[in-house]
Amino acid sequence: MPGQVRSTEHRSAHVLVVGAGPAGCTAALRMAALGHRVTLIERGGPGRPAAVESAPASLRPLLASLGLQQAVDAAGCCRSSGAWVQWAGSPQRAGEVQSGGLIDRQRFDALLREAACAAGVRLLGAHARAARRAPEGGFELPLHDGRLLRADGIVWATGRSGDAAPGERCGAALVGRWSGDGQPLGHDSRVQAGPEGWAWAAPQPDGGCTAALFVDAQRLGGLDAAARERLYRDSLAGYGLIASMLRGHLARPLRVADTTPRRAAGTVEPRCVRAGEAAFSLDPLSSQGVAAAMRSGVQAAACLHTMLGRPADTALAQAFLQEQVEREWQRHRRWRAGYDAEAARHFGTPFWAQRAKDAASRELPAPSVSPADPLPALDLPIRLDGRSRFQPAPMLEGDWIVAAPALQHPGLPGPVGYVQGQPVADLLAALAPGSSVARVLQAWAARLGAQGAAGLLQSWWRLGVVVADTAPPLQPR
Ligand SMILES: Cc1cc2nc3c(=O)[nH]c(=O)nc-3n(C[C@H](O)[C@H](O)[C@H](O)COP(=O)(O)OP(=O)(O)OC[C@H]3O[C@@H](n4cnc5c(N)ncnc54)[C@H](O)[C@@H]3O)c2cc1C
Repeated sequence: MPGQVRSTEHRSAHVLVVGAGPAGCTAALRMAALGHRVTLIERGGPGRPAAVESAPASLRPLLASLGLQQAVDAAGCCRSSGAWVQWAGSPQRAGEVQSGGLIDRQRFDALLREAACAAGVRLLGAHARAARRAPEGGFELPLHDGRLLRADGIVWATGRSGDAAPGERCGAALVGRWSGDGQPLGHDSRVQAGPEGWAWAAPQPDGGCTAALFVDAQRLGGLDAAARERLYRDSLAGYGLIASMLRGHLARPLRVADTTPRRAAGTVEPRCVRAGEAAFSLDPLSSQGVAAAMRSGVQAAACLHTMLGRPADTALAQAFLQEQVEREWQRHRRWRAGYDAEAARHFGTPFWAQRAKDAASRELPAPSVSPADPLPALDLPIRLDGRSRFQPAPMLEGDWIVAAPALQHPGLPGPVGYVQGQPVADLLAALAPGSSVARVLQAWAARLGAQGAAGLLQSWWRLGVVVADTAPPLQPR
């Protein structure tokens, strides 16, 4: 039975988590909660390029599921804020609920580290070298100070690594911290596209702001600090929405950051997993980096826990983590392709034309459902498409990765075992022969609520998972 302790389970292993950013702290917290002895290793350093970052609305439920929401609220390191976006037309405001908020990264990361320590994690200030497998099993991790650590499993959460995706141009950001002039800047962050890149700014509680310019990395080639600052100031002057926030003086030298979406080869090996940006990094435009890193920390912990406790399920756990990385990566590429294409149409510049071409050259899966998509007529008979399969796939169930029955279909981004916590098998039962749209909606609404039921049907209809029952069905296998 999933979730039950088997006699062979090795409940308390020693695990090293390298890197105490959002991914590493989350993985460490989860591994400690799962009963392991955890050492979290952080080298310290110059800190984040942007002291404040935008967070998506999805961060809140994630924090709640980790038991961190109250502490984050009490610490005040996540402010709710709206966002002004001027992408290809006039500025539009997204309210607090849609846009999520702003995270003070230094305080947020410190809070995550404290939460990990409170859960029993040992935090070690040290700079890790590459790990090696020990002859007697387990791992040896040499540190730059000469010490050698031993462990049964490792999570690498060391931040950006890996190669740029094929066809992807390298991106860079110049990030500045402005002092402000004593006049309030409001609470909203701002994003604006321009002919040669895009810019983002967010107010700081002290009345200043952080403002970043995102450009093709080639434009920074050979520039010294003074030339980079000229480029930054001159370019931002052309971003009206952002320029009005740049008051006072630049409080510290500009920081340069790599923003290229990257993906590491070998996300997962037996008892050694990558989490967060050590596995894949997203374009900062999405504001999904922190939330994606934390989700990845949860998944990496479940994967390593399964490998340590149920060695026979190692391949299953590996398949799970690989699939999750692929899914997040594809979701992000699909999302970004829409923005690139819109800016390319609006500006018609080589920068956007190239980005849109890069996106078009990648094979993108079907887009996800938009709220504007109509539902089929209520009296229409519907059924599951004949290309659907219902078979075991790796799923996170409780603390473990298990093989659970899941719906698979070429239109879906991956196997679906649950929808809003409901086993998919129970939902599929409503698609019995002769079922109409109205009957299916009624059955699903009892489990998912009316809105959830309509959203699911809309999505599966658009993706071709559910089809009109007008032709003799192919038998689902
Ligand atoms: C310019 C810019 C703007 C961004 N804006 C946003 C935004 O608005 N919203 C958003 O959600 N995301 C944003 N991101 C992305 C976000 O910062 C990352 O997605 C997030 O920090 C990833 O978390 P992580 O834990 O994977 O890695 P990191 O936060 O990079 O943490 C890795 C940790 O590992 C430590 N480490 C590395 N190597 C070693 C070693 N050998 N030994 C010991 N310790 C080590 C590092 O010191 C670091 O603390 C932005 C990124 C950039 C570059």
